[in-house]
Amino acid sequence: MKIPASSVRLRLTIWYTLALALIVLAFSLAVFLFVKDRLFRQFDRGMAKEFAAFAIEVAEDAGSFSDIESQGAPSLFEVFQGGALVFRSASFRKAGLPEPSGVPAAGIRTERSRDGGRFRLLAEPVKSDRFLVVAQDEESVWNTLQTLLAILYLALPAALLLAALGGYVLAGRLLAPVGAMARQAAKIGAENLSERLSVANPDDEFGKLAAVFNQTLTRLQNAFERLQRFTADASHELRTPLTALQSVGEVALQENLDTAAYRDRIGSMLEETSRLTNLVESLLVLTRADSGRFQVNRKPTDIGALVGKAVEDMRVLAEERNQKLTADLASGIQIPVDGDLLRQAMVNILDNAIKFTPPGGMIAVVVEDRPGVVGIEVRDSGPGIPADHQDKIFDRFYRVEKDRPRDAGGVGLGLAIAKWAIEANGGRIELESREGQGSTFRIVLPK
Ligand code: ADP
Repeated sequence: MKIPASSVRLRLTIWYTLALALIVLAFSLAVFLFVKDRLFRQFDRGMAKEFAAFAIEVAEDAGSFSDIESQGAPSLFEVFQGGALVFRSASFRKAGLPEPSGVPAAGIRTERSRDGGRFRLLAEPVKSDRFLVVAQDEESVWNTLQTLLAILYLALPAALLLAALGGYVLAGRLLAPVGAMARQAAKIGAENLSERLSVANPDDEFGKLAAVFNQTLTRLQNAFERLQRFTADASHELRTPLTALQSVGEVALQENLDTAAYRDRIGSMLEETSRLTNLVESLLVLTRADSGRFQVNRKPTDIGALVGKAVEDMRVLAEERNQKLTADLASGIQIPVDGDLLRQAMVNILDNAIKFTPPGGMIAVVVEDRPGVVGIEVRDSGPGIPADHQDKIFDRFYRVEKDRPRDAGGVGLGLAIAKWAIEANGGRIELESREGQGSTFRIVLPK
């Protein structure tokens, strides 16, 4: 099996094994030192006990010490009297310990023999003005310690190897969902954006990651569907005036008409062309808005004056329909806005009010200075907007009555553009309307 250098699984296993090796090494060292200390304490206690019993015999001996030596225990000892060595057992001589230069210091210590052996020496004065040194080979203690070391040497690598293998398997199992998620995610494309990653345990880290990824997919899918709908709707709306243009042209060519009739046909074609131009312009505005690169150019602007100008520009349309268009505009409110965008929003809202309000109706525009905000209201006595359509009329291409003649309504982009233009200025647009009782569009701009 080939493990890539960047494998998280391998890195986890290596770090885990290294950490474990350090812990186990420290633990083994502690165990070794503890056992060594215990063994030597026990050894020293044994020696001290033996020394105490032996010291009585040495104190009572007549001076030859050979009887005690022949009794055997302890076999390694030497006796000093009057500052000089008076007896050394045969075993002591054989042990090859260094010759003492005088009476050794009292206490317990370790000395090395000539052949490298380690001996524990206990030296204390005893009665009869004698000084006794008893020695004992430490070999048994060191044998035990070496056995312990051998066990540790063998057991440590084996334990680490097992732990590394176990860690590798465990890391593999823990990380398996990541691989599965990557494989699933790799299969998701534009054609199957509705697929989602399976979430085994939504509460663990991987589950949370998968959930976040799924939410991102949902947002992408929504955006993608919106874009598809937009393209389909735009194509559909573009086709209608184009078809009209083509059929008017074709029919005019087939007929033998006088100049006035031709002018009439050309007039119809120009009407369709202007409809087409308006549509393309609206589409361009929305495409630029969607690109997120639209530069909003805010400058201190007198809102009353701006709205008044838009009302005057539209007045001729209202007059054509015998509508009463009034304006009550607070003056002198200067706030930083993108004037072109706000004007576009006002024109779209006013255009709707004029379009949908029956001839002879009334339209009132009010600009109000309120605490912290500026309110712009466009109220009409039109047909109103049914409650179940109210939250959708700001959507692109949304029209309340789809089959309304195209002359009466546009393509359903006016309010979408108005909403975007107002939000780009930091404001919001609200609608208050009841079917049969007119509509009020309210723009709220922060100061
Ligand atoms: P349109 O191009 O159709 O005017 P809009 O986005 O401007 O598109 O408006 C969407 C729909 O909202 C319109 O088709 C219309 O049904 C409804 N609407 C907008 N303004 C009014 C209004 N003042 N009175 C009644 N209905 C309106």
